[in-house]
Amino acid sequence: MLRCPSCLLLLWKPVTVSCGHSFCKPCLGGALPPRCPLCQERLKLLGVGTARCNVVLCGLLEKCVEREIRLAWLVAHVRDRLTRGDAEEALRMAQKGVELAPDASSLRLCRAEAFAALGQHQRALEDLDTVCKAEPGEHEGFFRKGKVLLKMGQRAEALMAWEHCLTLSPHFHPARREMEKILAEDAPQPCTAAAHPGVAHQGSTGPQVDEGSPVFPSSSPQVQDQEGEPADGRGDTEHGHGTATLSQPGRQQEPDTSAERQDRWLVDNEEETAAAKDTQPSLWELLSISDLECSLCIRMFFEPVTTPCGHTFCKECLERCLDHRPNCPLCKQSLREYLKDGNYSPTVLLQDIMLATFPAQLAQRRDLHQAEMAELSNLTNNIPIFVCTMSFPGIACPLHVFEPRYRLMIRRCQETGTRRFGMCIYEDGKSFADYGCMLEIRQIELLADGRSLVDTIGQRRFRVLSRGHRDGYNTADIEYLEDKKVAGEELQELQCLHESTYCLAQRFCEHGDLASRHVLMQHGPLPEKEEDIQVMPCGKGCSE
Ligand SMILES: [Zn+2]
Ligand SMILES: [Zn+2]
Ligand SMILES: [Zn+2]
Ligand SMILES: [Zn+2]
Repeated sequence: MLRCPSCLLLLWKPVTVSCGHSFCKPCLGGALPPRCPLCQERLKLLGVGTARCNVVLCGLLEKCVEREIRLAWLVAHVRDRLTRGDAEEALRMAQKGVELAPDASSLRLCRAEAFAALGQHQRALEDLDTVCKAEPGEHEGFFRKGKVLLKMGQRAEALMAWEHCLTLSPHFHPARREMEKILAEDAPQPCTAAAHPGVAHQGSTGPQVDEGSPVFPSSSPQVQDQEGEPADGRGDTEHGHGTATLSQPGRQQEPDTSAERQDRWLVDNEEETAAAKDTQPSLWELLSISDLECSLCIRMFFEPVTTPCGHTFCKECLERCLDHRPNCPLCKQSLREYLKDGNYSPTVLLQDIMLATFPAQLAQRRDLHQAEMAELSNLTNNIPIFVCTMSFPGIACPLHVFEPRYRLMIRRCQETGTRRFGMCIYEDGKSFADYGCMLEIRQIELLADGRSLVDTIGQRRFRVLSRGHRDGYNTADIEYLEDKKVAGEELQELQCLHESTYCLAQRFCEHGDLASRHVLMQHGPLPEKEEDIQVMPCGKGCSE
């Protein structure tokens, strides 16, 4: 799970890009690729100069995966590719590993192996020399060096390397066997080494074989002289653990019945890959809920989003912060561009981690959120009240929303799906009037800085029963108003009043002065006169 979708290795310096996917920073290249390698979404830096590491993910990785395990993982993966014959990919991975941890001999050995598999013997040799220098007491590097030298046709040097390997680990049979093989070949026919499939399978190295052989007799004793001192007392004690991440304990001791080194590596690879896999489940035991907590609400992340500066918050928590200031609440980095983009993609990996580690708590968190949403969806109790203007059923009411509390209110209306809130005018002494009208959001135009132009239309009228507050805005328990139906003389009177009022309104609209034009602009043209004024008891344009 903690793998990078790009290199398929354990994430290294994870960066969460704008689509919500996370990759190793080096995998994204210097800048940012134009599209996400996983979902192909167009990627944006959104106001930061370069991609920033995801702080939470880095912390999780740090906590879960110790460096040794991370390196072991990488080594196992390189080996895996080598076994599958994909030396190029193995080299690419090893290359990355060496870049990330230049001092890790295990990775350098892997890279050497990959180089050798690709026929780049000189480079393999350089790596092996580095390893031998860094760990002069380890036989592994010398053993491999011998093999590469042999492939290069330098048999004398190869023998020297193996000699040294045996001085370090006298019981390391593969080296002994390789030496015996060469010596056996050398005795009758000096030039057949290249033809031997088990030793020098690279045809191109054939002609060079001769060069090496004459040097051999003189160089062999030299090796022993030179390396006499470190070998003493080291071989037996050291070879047991070898390069911790690379060698399985006991490998050296096993009797070498198989002559094919490839087989040996195959076995090792499987063991090591399995070992690396085994470490995975226990990683989760290292995590606690506090590792997955939003720093704003101090609860487990809900719909975590990662800002371009690499900080992670619940989507809602971050939005509420951005209502007030377009800056990261933690590092103060400007998030103007991020806000403008308005695309808060959830951080996929974090969601996956939470689901894998704390499924019960995540479910609880989701239930809590749903309960909040249900409460916010109630359209008679604690309904949000926008205190601004007089509104009427069926009449458009465009609003410019800029106050943080109303941004939150409008967002909630959207999220709950009610798309409704109450509109009341201000009234001295009681914060808002006793009567108001529900408004339904028809369209929202979100502006770059978080303000919005909200197009609403009046729905039902209501009477306020009690007043309250929620997160800075007013709320009310309400009851909807219904017109009493009248008949006879009363209806006639009402009809007359309706006619005369409509005429007045018509005359006002036709007058064309500033006030009427303003009303026309705000609310649209005068509606048609109704045939039956009592047909809709809760107000014109209401379907309920
Ligand atoms: Zn990667
Ligand atoms: Zn993506
Ligand atoms: Zn939060
Ligand atoms: Zn930040």
